[in-house]
Amino acid sequence: KRLMSHIEQDLKLNFDDVLLKPKRSTLSSRASVDLNRTITFRHSPKTFTGVPLMAANMDGVGTFSMAKVLQKYNCITVIKKHYSLDEWKEAIGSGVSLNHIAVCTGANMIHDPNAEDYYNIKKILEQWPDINYICLDVANGYQESFSNFVARVRKEYPDKIIIAGNVITPEMTEQLIIRGADIVKCGIGPGSVCTTRTMTGVGYPQVSGIMECSDAAHGLKGQIVADGGCRTPGDISKAYAAGADFVMLGGMLAGHKESELQLANGVYEFYGMSSDRAMENHSIDKQHYKGSEGKVVYLPDRGSVEHTIEEILGGVRSTCTYIGAEKLKDLPKCATFIQTREIVNLVFSKYE
Ligand code: 5GP
Repeated sequence: KRLMSHIEQDLKLNFDDVLLKPKRSTLSSRASVDLNRTITFRHSPKTFTGVPLMAANMDGVGTFSMAKVLQKYNCITVIKKHYSLDEWKEAIGSGVSLNHIAVCTGANMIHDPNAEDYYNIKKILEQWPDINYICLDVANGYQESFSNFVARVRKEYPDKIIIAGNVITPEMTEQLIIRGADIVKCGIGPGSVCTTRTMTGVGYPQVSGIMECSDAAHGLKGQIVADGGCRTPGDISKAYAAGADFVMLGGMLAGHKESELQLANGVYEFYGMSSDRAMENHSIDKQHYKGSEGKVVYLPDRGSVEHTIEEILGGVRSTCTYIGAEKLKDLPKCATFIQTREIVNLVFSKYE
């Protein structure tokens, strides 16, 4: 009895555990579906208008070359933190739109509030004050020090759209929104090059996580970005249908010429940002890390990302026609999920 009190009995579902039920629809063609959304925020007075997809701040994904393509679709690219100020100048001079990029800072600032990462984004924002998005990205958004940092950044930048995470439970989603986040980044362990679940045993099935976190966020006029685990356009549709306002992609956008990586024997190396490979490439001293939670995969060259984006948008448009949603905004309202397989997926919150 005592042990049972630490097991959550409800079924929690992943992308592969569900499908969307087809429904009668008056839509005649997928071309008539509108994937653009206008989104307002709890804290920032700015608005987002566009297709609510984000490129992750990873090597091979969060690049200026990626941003130049995604901005055509009014999507957001979270620019990886390793570019120099000169590279920033060159990119912005050559047509990267300030309106479609986010600056990001990583984990070290919560241990040292004056850490270089945060200092760098301050310099970038001073130089280009029209950048609207700041992404505060840590592996574990549950630490009190992270919430305090979100509050500090909100105070310093009252008008910016702040994206903060990662978490995957409703109470922490609420906490980050209350402390100053506009968009909470949700996902612990689902990433294509993430090994958190195997290295630590920690995680949460992504579709249920999205449903619970978006419900919590929307109650506070906040938003979420579903981060990690999408491998197909269908997964992206499921994320929107489960309530995600934005969807963030790593692996699906990797392996293209916009990765700014060298092709070796026809493949691109793609790795988690806390993998040993990322540490090596960015000369980060591993001493500071308890263990690597990322791996390396090899992806065949898929050409330009434009083709992949078109495929994604085509897939999501088709989802909308199958379930009768005229606009992306209507997807959650029109969606009924079918649970497709019998799974036993108990979540142990504590073991005694
Ligand atoms: P994907 O779209 O590739 O499935 O997931 C992308 C997300 O994986 C990123 O936005 C980030 O949150 C997460 N991620 C990236 N690198 C790592 C890593 O090394 N370890 C972990 N645990 N997650 C990672």
